[in-house]
Amino acid sequence: MKKTRTGIGYDIHPLVPGRRLVLGGVEIPFDKGLDGWSDADVLTHAVMDALLGSAALGDIGRHFPPGEPEYKDVSSLELLDKVKTRLAEAGWQTGNIDATVIAEKPVLKDYIDKIREKLSQTLGTGIERVSVKASTSNGIGDIGRGEGIAAFAVALIEGDE
Ligand SMILES: [Zn+2]
Repeated sequence: MKKTRTGIGYDIHPLVPGRRLVLGGVEIPFDKGLDGWSDADVLTHAVMDALLGSAALGDIGRHFPPGEPEYKDVSSLELLDKVKTRLAEAGWQTGNIDATVIAEKPVLKDYIDKIREKLSQTLGTGIERVSVKASTSNGIGDIGRGEGIAAFAVALIEGDE
């Protein structure tokens, strides 16, 4: 018998010139990128918070504090790998992930499957368990003006009873 838990994650980062745009570990050609201490991969950060939340293990700010030299410009996939390990130590593995990226631009549909592949490989699970969707803000508000990109994620984790 498997026991299960669910968790939610949310993140937002500002879009600025002179930075790479990395979503789910995939670099996406665009004239701006997300600003932050790490690579500012907003999607991977939301996924990590959903996973940590599902196991009641706190949040990414607690595990990977911004400002620490160790995490400057680090690939967030490396941090996701550490989250996977911490969950495994607590007896959990990924059941499934569902995430939505909210970006006015660029259009993400051509990158979605590559992103699902990267995230699922890092989590050591099948791609069919990792869903990534792209949405816009329909021109409304800060995201609608292209000032940033946000992501929501939910995670289900499984462990042995
Ligand atoms: Zn973040």
